[in-house]
Amino acid sequence: MKLILLGAPGAGKGTVAKMLTEMDGSVQISTGDILRGAVQAGTELGKQAQAYMDAGDLVPDELIMGIMEKRLQEPDCEKGFLLDGFPRTIPQAEALKVLLDKLGIKLDMAVNIDVPRDVILDRLTTRRTCSNTDCQAIYNVKSNPPKVEGICDKCGSPVIQRADETEEAISHRLETYNEKTAPLIGFYENEGLCVTVNATNSDDVINAIKERLAA
Ligand SMILES: [Zn+2]
Repeated sequence: MKLILLGAPGAGKGTVAKMLTEMDGSVQISTGDILRGAVQAGTELGKQAQAYMDAGDLVPDELIMGIMEKRLQEPDCEKGFLLDGFPRTIPQAEALKVLLDKLGIKLDMAVNIDVPRDVILDRLTTRRTCSNTDCQAIYNVKSNPPKVEGICDKCGSPVIQRADETEEAISHRLETYNEKTAPLIGFYENEGLCVTVNATNSDDVINAIKERLAA
């Protein structure tokens, strides 16, 4: 399948993408993961991206588009792909449409995962990440805390709140999403590709996607 996953930060796009890859071997392509990898590697691109991400801002297109074009042409995309966190703006969506046409790729749908703001704030501000970059285990202070407070179960390193997951940064990310990314729903509706799912449970989202693919 070839899907775009839309939804605010914390709507569960990453979780849904992982479940879908296990269904048919489609590959998950997350701009966030690519960018965080660059940050950890300490590349010039990574350093530039880090400043934006720490502030809860979107990373500029010129840092993203080139990466995406190369990525979509890699052999593992032949079975399909799930774009998670990209495109984020109308100009990116337009650029992606041109790119996909050029590559002869046809999207199945753009899935809009619609989760209430209070649920998202609660999910993200309670998330904690292992500070060891080789581990990066993810915890949740409410639903999945480490056995010893503040210490990673797997490697013993300190468990921290990411700079882009404080309440202030998340509020800023949600504002940015509503301003720049939410209009993508209209864009893909016009393309006849948008499917909106009102669900806070990933299984419900998966079932809605399966129904649509089978239709
Ligand atoms: Zn760890």
